[in-house]
This record gives sequence, C-alpha cells and structure tokens, in this order.
Amino acid sequence: MTTPDTSHHDFARPGLSWSGTVDYGPGPLHAPTSIAELQALVAGSTRIRALGTRHSFSEVAASDADLVTLTAMPAQIEIDIASRTVQVAAGVRYGELAVAVHEHGLALSNMGSLPHISVGGATATGTHGSGDAKRSLASSVRAIELVTADGDLLTLSREKDPDIFDGAVLALGTLGIATRLTLDLAPATPMRQSVHLDFPAERMGAEDLSAMLAAGASVSLFHHWDGHIAQAWVKQEVGTDEELPEVWLDGTRAPGPVHPLPGMPADFCTDQSGEPGPAHERMPHFRLEFTPSSGEEIQSEYFVAREDIAAALAAVMPLGERIRPLLHASEVRTVAADELWLSPAHRRASACVHFTWKQLPREVEALLPEIEERLAPFAPRPHWGKVFTMDPAVVRAQYPRLGEFRALRDRLDPERVLRNEYVDRLLGS
Ligand SMILES: Cc1cc2nc3c(=O)[nH]c(=O)nc-3n(C[C@H](O)[C@H](O)[C@H](O)COP(=O)(O)OP(=O)(O)OC[C@H]3O[C@@H](n4cnc5c(N)ncnc54)[C@H](O)[C@@H]3O)c2cc1C
Repeated sequence: MTTPDTSHHDFARPGLSWSGTVDYGPGPLHAPTSIAELQALVAGSTRIRALGTRHSFSEVAASDADLVTLTAMPAQIEIDIASRTVQVAAGVRYGELAVAVHEHGLALSNMGSLPHISVGGATATGTHGSGDAKRSLASSVRAIELVTADGDLLTLSREKDPDIFDGAVLALGTLGIATRLTLDLAPATPMRQSVHLDFPAERMGAEDLSAMLAAGASVSLFHHWDGHIAQAWVKQEVGTDEELPEVWLDGTRAPGPVHPLPGMPADFCTDQSGEPGPAHERMPHFRLEFTPSSGEEIQSEYFVAREDIAAALAAVMPLGERIRPLLHASEVRTVAADELWLSPAHRRASACVHFTWKQLPREVEALLPEIEERLAPFAPRPHWGKVFTMDPAVVRAQYPRLGEFRALRDRLDPERVLRNEYVDRLLGS
C-alpha cells in the first residue's frame, strides 16, 4: 500500500514526524521564503529549531518553542563541473539532487536507503548508506552556510576553517540553521544491484559476514534474528566489483525483486535485476517516486566496530524470541571512518546493527535497554535520528571531541537559542 508523501508540505502547526511517532510540539512552524527572511526570523527568536523532511524517529527535531522549515525557500542546485562540486539548498532531497548531478555526468559519493531525505537534515544527524569505503553523507560536505543564533550568515569550509569544520558540519542543528551546503561529487559510475536469499546459519561467522559486506561498493544484509541472513542486497560498481555467481556463500540469487520487509510489494524498491544503471537508481533501496517502507515503523540503529559485527550480532541473538514479534526486519551495513566530531563513525570503521520495528513504541522502548546492554561490550554509538535509551553519559563518553564541540557551541550559540530537550539531554546544556 502506498501512502501520500506529505513530508514536503508546510503546516502552521508542526504536527508529526513521517512515521507519526514524534510530535514536534505546538509550534508555530515558520516557512521563510528567503535567506534574508530566515535571518530576520532567527534574529528575533529566543528559541528556534529547524525541521528537515521529518524522517527522524528520535526527538532530535522536536521542540516546545518555534520551528522553521526551509521547504518554501528556493530549491537551489548549482553544479560546478570543473571543481566537481554542487552547492545545494539545505531543504533539497537527495533523490532530486542525485538526478540533477547525474545529468552532468556526476554522482553523489553516497546515499542513504531512502532518497526522500533532505540534505540539511541528513547532514545534521550523520545519516549514512552502506559500503566499506563509503563515509557518512555529511563527510561529502566541503562548505556549509549557517544562519547562526544571532541571525548572521556564516560560511565555514573545509579549506578555510580546518580547526572547527569537522565539528560544525554534523551538529544536530545546534550551531545554526544550514541554508546551503557545498558537496563533493564523484564521476558518475554505473552500478548494478542483485539480491541473494537465505544464507545458512553457518554463514554468520566473522569471516563470512565480512566477505558478504565486502562483495560490492555498497552491501546491506537483512535478517530477522533467527540466526541467518535472509537477504543480501549487493550494489556493485560496474567495471570494478566482481559479479556474483547464482549461488554465493550458499545463498541463492533471488528469482525476482524482493522488498526487505516481509509482505511488502517490491515495486517500491530500486532495480535488482543486475542490469547496470545510474548509481542513484541502485544505491538507495527505495525509489524516489514511492513512499517507502510501510510508514508504520520505528527505527533504532547502533554503530559498532566493523570487525566486531559477527560478535555483536551473536551477543544480541539470545534476545531473538523477544525481538521477532516487534520487528519488521533488521539490517547490517558498513560505514567508513570519518573525522566529524559527532559522527557515530568518528575514527572507527563501523558496522551498523539496525532494527526496523513495528509501531509498538512502548514494547520497543522496554526491550531496547536489554539490546543495548548486550551491545555494551562493543561500545555502540546510537544513530542520532533513531530511537535509543542509552544513558546520555555513556553516549557522550563515545565522543572524544565532545569537549571541543561544546566549546564551539558556546561560541556560536551562547544563549542556546537552538537548543531543545533532546540536545540538552544528550549533549549537556
Ligand atoms: C524510511 C526511512 C529510511 C531511513 N534510512 C536511513 C538510512 O539509510 N541511513 C541513515 O543513516 N538514516 C536513515 N534514516 C534516518 C534519517 O536519514 C535521519 O533521521 C535524517 O536525519 C532525516 O533527515 P530529515 O531531513 O528528515 O531531517 P529531520 O528528521 O526533519 O531532522 C533531523 C535533524 O536535522 C536538523 N535539521 C534539519 N534541517 C536542518 C537545517 N537546515 N539546518 C540545521 N539543522 C537541520 C533538525 O533540527 C534535526 O535535529 C531513515 C529514516 C526513514 C524514515
């Protein structure tokens, strides 16, 4: 069943997140139509937070004060072929951006499973796709323009501001409202996607899981905590990655397209035929023109060291019987290490333990502490935009550069105009 994607609409009252599980608060929700208007709005606000396309499951965007959406601002996309960069308005969705750069023979270095997410919102939370060599989406940002708490326009760049840039890009909306971002692009390289099904339980060891995750530029492994990988989605660069045989590591090539969630139609999914196509039509799992997934869901995700993924899955597996009734599907992905101070992949090549839950918030929140306890030996870092219950002090301890981040925040927003309850709790006030 498809549902209309209302994420780009404006409402005077902010309403609910895409999943319907987060209430953003009473508002008002402002929708300025220019950067100057946004600057005046922020300068006149005692407290304000930005909304992206509302795809986060945590309360990272919610606030009891004013909110602002950038969806009424011009959807600027300016491509510079010579420097292989694009300057893009923060409210633009990756799917639209990817199509625009593709027309110039260029590509985004990475995309999440969903092309419907805004560049500003994804950058703010460390959104990632999958791939041993693929860093978080925010790592492609080479310059960011912010409206800071006092309404000033501040542009920071990787070249000009090396001391603070890695702290300023992924900042959970706390340093300013991002208006425009300049992203690195890559040459457009065709990709192909194939899916293999039902790897036996004996393939859950470290060596086999590592081989699966390394089989293409971008790999996702779906499972249901019953001790085996049900689907491996392998996205390969044509001409670089070696094509997989029909039977691979005892998994069999899917005879036709599949959806990661049992019972959902595969029409929402990107091409799995193995035919080469543009990277932006293979890297995300879902097609831009459809509302993805079931909508009726909650997500949680924890980053561990890539080399620990088999052990981390094994540690959680005894909870399988309790997880399964609450679960749509789980996914394992990899993320290359980066330098961004608040990135869950900060200086650690990571693998992610992801859960797409049924919309049972109470039951999910009751189970998460047990999952987190079993993951604790692997020093998990939770995805900022998904649901977790870890003690904020434990989360903070995972970020060695948090002290520098807080100093930067003191400098750019001493009055905490951009705060909300979530960042107070997680980062400290
Ligand atoms: C079906 C589905 C699939 C998903 N797949 C993935 C995935 O593959 N990988 C992954 O990592 N995550 C994934 N997510 C999570 C999602 O990518 C993140 O939560 C992301 O942050 C959502 O971006 P958004 O534009 O909706 O931002 P929102 O959820 O609206 O906001 C997120 C944060 O960004 C801030 N923000 C938004 N715009 C700005 C701005 N202009 N300036 C400053 N701060 C701003 C907000 O204040 C808030 O703190 C998925 C979510 C869904 C619903």
